[in-house]
Amino acid sequence: MSNRKASLRRVSGKQIIKAFTRTTAAGLGCMALGLGCMALALGLDPARALDGTEAAGPVDQVLTDSNLFRPTHSDLDWASDLSSDVRSFLTLTGAETTQQANQTDNNPERALNEAGMRPLVSTDAGVALWSNCLPITVSIHLSELLNDTATAKKVTLEALSQIAILTGLDIRVETDNIQTIKGNDLDSLPPAGSREIQLIWVTEGSESLEDHLLGEAELHYSEAELELRSATVILSDEIISQAADRQRWTGDSAMLSVLHELGHSVGLGHSLDPHSVMAPSLADEADITLADRSALAYAGTRQC
Ligand SMILES: [Zn+2]
Repeated sequence: MSNRKASLRRVSGKQIIKAFTRTTAAGLGCMALGLGCMALALGLDPARALDGTEAAGPVDQVLTDSNLFRPTHSDLDWASDLSSDVRSFLTLTGAETTQQANQTDNNPERALNEAGMRPLVSTDAGVALWSNCLPITVSIHLSELLNDTATAKKVTLEALSQIAILTGLDIRVETDNIQTIKGNDLDSLPPAGSREIQLIWVTEGSESLEDHLLGEAELHYSEAELELRSATVILSDEIISQAADRQRWTGDSAMLSVLHELGHSVGLGHSLDPHSVMAPSLADEADITLADRSALAYAGTRQC
């Protein structure tokens, strides 16, 4: 794991697809962690072009039918306090839901697939998610070179709050322990620990991100148990400068960009719906759609 930076830097388009679609065991790295056999999944996001055209993301190429939500260790009872529109979307039967004639009851995976939502890690055995009975710790690291530290903190905390509410996962952030990192030097950081989401803001042009990537999420998960174990999210401050440039955006686009990466960190892949916050490139009118809220709710379903 000490070569994390090197492994991030050597990722090319082809290897991303490989990492994204295959559940390859990570070998020695996972053994050293003592967490059983771990594999790696990546979500990479290109910069949204300012002229309105969408930059093609490498992950576009892997949005195929072979990458679908499949029943996993989920517990439909988790959903008892979900809002009725999410329950209806996920075709969960019960109080206050509207049965849809064209939908199969209690088949949330099918509903998500039909809406174009995709998981980040999917195998024949199910999709990899965080188990929902234990807390997830979030650590936040900000490059000392950031132009606008206050906005980076603000949008990070807002997006984390949304993710915690929408997934129902016990996500804990120590806001008085936000760390500053020297330059854009990720080597000074330890790798994300067990049940940790590590969020790192770097400046545009940092070697930690490929040219004009706005963000990148690296997840480690147990291949055998289909359980997410740790995540590292790298965010470029181009997210903030682009949001400031694009005042025609109606929503808080910087917050949505962070939410997008956090969506990856809880196991969501890209959506085929261009209006979704999980679309490979955020559209001007992107928002948190009902399908997004439902997919995030689903991301909190995995039992221990
Ligand atoms: Zn993405």
